[in-house]
Amino acid sequence: MTTYESLLAAVTTDGDGREVLDPATGERIGTAPVVDTAAVGDAVARAAAAQPAWAALGHAERSALLHRAADAVEASSEALAEILSREQGKPLNGPNARFEVGACAAWLRVTADTPTPTQVVVDDGTDFAELHYRPIGVVGAITPWNWPMMIAIWQLAPALRMGNTVVAKPSQYTLLSGLALVEVLNTVLPADVLIAVPGSGELGAALVTDPAVGKIMFTGSTATGKKIIEASAGNVTRLTLELGGNDAGIVLPDVDPKAIAEQLFWGAFINTGQTCAALKRLYVHDDVYDAVCEALVDVAGAMPMGVGLDEANVLGPLQNAMQFDVVDRLVEAAKASGARVLLGGDPERTQPGHFYPATLVADIDPANALVVEEQFGPALPIIRYSDLDDAIALANGLDVGLGASVWSADRDRAREVAARIQAGTVWINSHGGVHPMIPFGGVKQSGYGLEFGAEGLKAVAVPQVVNG
Ligand code: NAD
Repeated sequence: MTTYESLLAAVTTDGDGREVLDPATGERIGTAPVVDTAAVGDAVARAAAAQPAWAALGHAERSALLHRAADAVEASSEALAEILSREQGKPLNGPNARFEVGACAAWLRVTADTPTPTQVVVDDGTDFAELHYRPIGVVGAITPWNWPMMIAIWQLAPALRMGNTVVAKPSQYTLLSGLALVEVLNTVLPADVLIAVPGSGELGAALVTDPAVGKIMFTGSTATGKKIIEASAGNVTRLTLELGGNDAGIVLPDVDPKAIAEQLFWGAFINTGQTCAALKRLYVHDDVYDAVCEALVDVAGAMPMGVGLDEANVLGPLQNAMQFDVVDRLVEAAKASGARVLLGGDPERTQPGHFYPATLVADIDPANALVVEEQFGPALPIIRYSDLDDAIALANGLDVGLGASVWSADRDRAREVAARIQAGTVWINSHGGVHPMIPFGGVKQSGYGLEFGAEGLKAVAVPQVVNG
């Protein structure tokens, strides 16, 4: 069994690199190695050399290896969760670090067992044609800092399953988490099938323009996604882009506020709000507005926030000072506009950690910055509406469309509303849940392409028609 100390030693260096500080305490965890752009080229070349043998193994063997990789993740789960908790800040408990490591194993297994997407498209006695999905070659996997292990698995598991090799570029904010995951997976995978290149955004840019990289799986901000789209033009590199979101939730007047409050809370505050498809603006009908606000205050006020390694906590710090400043600026703007802070909004600014308390803001203008900009943190604006058409128009009024949710006692009514919302996923009476067999992706500037399930396998392969 791997221990936290041994895994940390394997992914840190005594030499130069990036100092990693615990976002809850400011204490030094260790130094992560970083590489330069020349090392990206070397990694891609090694991955390209390893790819034919990996593809030649066939689906059954690759799937067996992905199951063994899941076994390795499970055997090291506490060590992985501790590194993740210390570096990212998320608590061990709640839908946080242990949950994330568990999801890594689950996604590996389901991806291993998803049937190959090959299909017979015509077989009419005259014509016979099959659509196959062949390996692309080398896939570049570029990840953000909020769910650094789970999102990496979302990218690399299907890519490996389909016979590609992978060069993974973890976020510079969560290098140890990215490296630790790859370290564990590589106890099982053949050499050079999965290579991590730790460092900042320039390494990601080098991956995108490397002619030997056939596909980029990118999860991160819309701003970086746009740069990647431009950079991909040179080699017509394929892209799956999971970008930023500002998910709306619409609460219809027929709900039981107390019954939905906990689901609403976790929809918005999972991972202390640092989640792409979290509920980021809540539109509540006038009839139930006060009751929903009250129920949310009760739930949110009872959730312990603190150092992730404390087993009691379910909310943690923001991962970095930059994100703390975003949340702080947006809440201050809301306050200045006259919005009513129901809970939180008063961070302790002298502490070393990046803690921002769970914050609920009511009676806020729909055009306020806290509503229309992505806060990516623990501050939820609650907007009052009386006409459903207005709420739907506001939900659709932004240039992003990752997820959304509709809350109602009447499922058919909720489904009718869902059909009018511009988002890649619309949840009913929950928000943000993902499943390895249910496709996930955004519309508008939240990106394009789908992950998970058969659609996710197709996304990391090239189609080939065999006709005759
Ligand atoms: P970011 O765009 O700053 O960074 C993401 C990754 O891209 C990092 O690894 C970074 O080093 C790399 N990068 C930076 N510049 C690059 C370039 N020019 N070329 C290639 N790679 C480059 O995003 P972040 O701040 O780490 O993540 C937060 C954002 O990600 C939020 O907007 C959030 O909504 C979004 N997100 C989306 C999803 C989703 O599934 N849609 C999931 C998680 C996060």
